[in-house]
Amino acid sequence: RVSLDANRYRPDFPILDRVTSSGAPLAFLDNAASSQRPNAVIDAMTQCYRQYYANVHRGIHTLSEESTDRYEQARRGIAKFVGAAETHEVIFAAGTTAAINTVARSWGDANLSTGDTILLTIAEHHANIVPWHQLAERTGCKVEFLPLDENFTITDDVVVDALERFQPKLFAFTASSNTLGVEFPVQRWTSLAHQAGCTVLVDAAQAAPHQAIDVQALDVDFLVFSGHKVCGPTGIGVLYGKAALLDAMPPFLSGGGMINEVTTSGFSCAALPDKFEAGTPPIAEAIGLHAATEYLTSVGLDAIHAYEKELGGYADQALREIDGVRIIGPTPELKAGIVSFVVDGVHAHDMSQTLDTYGIAVRAGHHCTMPLHKSLGLSATTRASFYFYNTFEEADRLIQAVREIRTRFAPSGRKRRRRS
Ligand code: PMP
Repeated sequence: RVSLDANRYRPDFPILDRVTSSGAPLAFLDNAASSQRPNAVIDAMTQCYRQYYANVHRGIHTLSEESTDRYEQARRGIAKFVGAAETHEVIFAAGTTAAINTVARSWGDANLSTGDTILLTIAEHHANIVPWHQLAERTGCKVEFLPLDENFTITDDVVVDALERFQPKLFAFTASSNTLGVEFPVQRWTSLAHQAGCTVLVDAAQAAPHQAIDVQALDVDFLVFSGHKVCGPTGIGVLYGKAALLDAMPPFLSGGGMINEVTTSGFSCAALPDKFEAGTPPIAEAIGLHAATEYLTSVGLDAIHAYEKELGGYADQALREIDGVRIIGPTPELKAGIVSFVVDGVHAHDMSQTLDTYGIAVRAGHHCTMPLHKSLGLSATTRASFYFYNTFEEADRLIQAVREIRTRFAPSGRKRRRRS
């Protein structure tokens, strides 16, 4: 029934063998927050520090040259991973959050002013909301949100209507919601936005780990993601931008490395990509991220996506059948490996804390999507998020544990008072 054998890959991830504080074997279902790293990534970073680490671009000695070669090789690897036309369209940023802030500060300040609109969806992560609120405060532009329909998605008609009504300068949306799991049609929406003369930024933080990305086929203007969700290190992420846009943008962070010349009266910028990489970059992290993308490519992103749809769909369906459980998100056809839910009589935090005693790691809260939760009339959900190394046995453990916890916390008819 499955398109990938998770057990074949589990030995690559030493951490998956852990037991938790309760003594139960770990079922790590918190991958939307951060995934785990395979030996290939840990080894690539260790090798960097053990054998050739030095600062990049700055010295003419053996280690510096080796480090620089590996760092730039990583950029070429990532460019291939996302299908970029040019290697210098890949900028290493600290993560999704830093990449979006860079676009907001650099492209946003240069291109938006009073009366302009930025269009978002209500399902955005705070990282794709707050930088635009701040831009609105600085420039006087407005931020508008596309609402979800009763299927937890947004139809093309609603997008077209908003593009006509608001004439936005930028449409910034997530390819895949970290709370609902819903996947939005990036190619179609990008094409609709372009027809309306609008620039597109795609938050691929939850897509890059789980599906193949081809920025040229999608025709997106900016696309961002984080290393730590694609089996790579923390402290690194990717800002992809079309060369013409990046070339025209002023730098955001400034200092060493991003200049061509500095004088007592001013400076001139380096060319791409250095212009957007001020200071010492995350060198071992870039090398680790490259190892991660090579690893995911070897597993196969199409197989990963298909498998997570099966596994997530299986858990979704079984949880829906438990009395008192409500799934917050679309039916499995519209999403992949994320299943968020609320349970009558059991607060999300109690649910996740009790699941931990079963060895099951999930997340509870608003998942940095407060406007989304508010629009759904919720303050918190419990979220199980699967990756290709999770098994159907782990899904079964989750389903059984939720069933037991629901019975224990809310015995028939008598509901426990909710903590706010
Ligand atoms: N966007 C989405 C959809 C996310 O899921 C996350 C991480 N939860 C972010 C942005 C922010 O990523 P980071 O914290 O790595 O900057």
